[in-house]
Amino acid sequence: MSRITKLNLKKLILSLVIFSIATLFVISLIVNYFIQRNQLIGSALAVHEEYAHKIANSTELHFYNIQLELKYSAMVLGQADHDDVKIQQELTRILKQSPYFDSVGYSDAQGYLQSFAPISLPLKKGQKLTTLGTQLSIQKRDSLITPPYTSNLNNFVIFISEPVFDQNGTYIGFIGGNIYLKQPNFINQLLTSQYGFQNNYIYVLDETGRIIFHPDPNRIGDSAQGNTGLETMLTKKAGHLRLINSQGVDNIAGFARIKSPNWTVVSQQPTKQLLDQASNLLTKVILGMLFFYLLIFFIIWRFSYLIAQPLSELADSASQLNQAEAKHNIAQIQPWYFEVAQFKRALLASAEHFQQTVEELNTIVKTDPLTGFYNRRGMQTFVQRFQNNRTPFSILAIDIDHFKKINDEHGHAEGDRILQLVAEQIQTQCRDQDLCCRIGGEEFIVLLPNAPYRLAQKVAQRILKKRAQEELDVMGKVTVSIGIAHWPSQSEDIDGVFELADQRLYQAKADGRNCIR
Ligand code: GH3
Ligand code: MG
Ligand code: MG
Repeated sequence: MSRITKLNLKKLILSLVIFSIATLFVISLIVNYFIQRNQLIGSALAVHEEYAHKIANSTELHFYNIQLELKYSAMVLGQADHDDVKIQQELTRILKQSPYFDSVGYSDAQGYLQSFAPISLPLKKGQKLTTLGTQLSIQKRDSLITPPYTSNLNNFVIFISEPVFDQNGTYIGFIGGNIYLKQPNFINQLLTSQYGFQNNYIYVLDETGRIIFHPDPNRIGDSAQGNTGLETMLTKKAGHLRLINSQGVDNIAGFARIKSPNWTVVSQQPTKQLLDQASNLLTKVILGMLFFYLLIFFIIWRFSYLIAQPLSELADSASQLNQAEAKHNIAQIQPWYFEVAQFKRALLASAEHFQQTVEELNTIVKTDPLTGFYNRRGMQTFVQRFQNNRTPFSILAIDIDHFKKINDEHGHAEGDRILQLVAEQIQTQCRDQDLCCRIGGEEFIVLLPNAPYRLAQKVAQRILKKRAQEELDVMGKVTVSIGIAHWPSQSEDIDGVFELADQRLYQAKADGRNCIR
């Protein structure tokens, strides 16, 4: 029960509003977060692929230039006719003029080194080289870009070479340049500085999945084994994917192929970084939306308060229908929608009915059923009121003479009828404002508010006269005796005044009845 009384419509509505707004808020945040997250991942995938394409294309262009330059030098060397000075000059020129190579060399068709630059290298002219670059160049006699390998000077390199033919078109050797992969060179410059966007990093894989370029130089030469995207990236020409790299980190990646060396450029970024962005965005969204949600909450809450207010006022009034001001309170409530108007109407009707019933009951409680006069309780209410308002009043104490005899001779029912008749006559001799009461068997009290003693005497005489004149059929004349008193002139003490009236009544009886004292 106590739990029920603690709940009320306003609290229920408030809870409902808080619950709905909070749920809506959370749901919209979750939806927002997932949409933004997917949007971010989707666009990041596309950006990484695009970026890998750009890098691949520019690298491709560089390789094309390198090969063009080497082709030119191969032509110069083919026409140099074994002129050592000319050959050395050409090698020095290409090393100095082009930004690409860390070292260049010219070998004959058997792999004997003819010339090299820079000349500071710890090599000897005429030395036979057996490096992968030398072997492949002799074998292919064509434009060549080798896979990365460790050179005889212990550098991790790729070797790019062009065959040299003499004026007769006979193959006489090859010119080639080394790019030291672990030292600064045009490719890693391209990868690290040119178009980098936030938090991405670039690496390049050869066709076997070995790392050729990586922002961490220690990784160069390692295999990218363990990278979950490796197979896709090596088989497809270009694309994007989400992968776990060889360090176990989840990444968003895009990739594209550099055609001539058949390498794969990968641009990637840890997924977590991206999702952190989504979280940051979410925080901004929360701050942005919170204000509006609070505003909406406030509006709904105020509005529901307006809905609930007249209902709870009516409910309060309904619990106080027994109070005098109930009807007035209900009438004050302003209904502004149908149900409240109906409720108010019904409640007013109930209050009306309730008060009528209470009044009826009050009357019944305070009235003597035989004569319709006030009984002792009714009389006391008025006496109390007169005392409170200090209304002066006179008292007539009236008693029927020898009533016992009437009862005995004619029966109790006839006695009752006589009581009624006498009462009626007392009433007719009184003023409208006088209050007639029957306080005992055949005893009456009349209260005459604002009536001075003299006026009371006149009324008493009229009653007496009327009784003495009129015969009541079989009974003949039925007389009364009357005692008179006045409050407050005779005593401030009301009980004392009533006693006085009583004493006077007995005096009248003692003096022979049918008289006033
Ligand atoms: P007195 O002149 O001294 O007043 O004599 P009395 O006979 O009128 O007075 P008493 O008090 O001896 O008798 C009153 C009688 O009134 C007693 C009782 O039987 C009768 N009585 C009281 N109440 C009722 C009533 O409601 N109806 C009827 N019929 N008789 C009543
Ligand atoms: Mg009597
Ligand atoms: Mg009596």
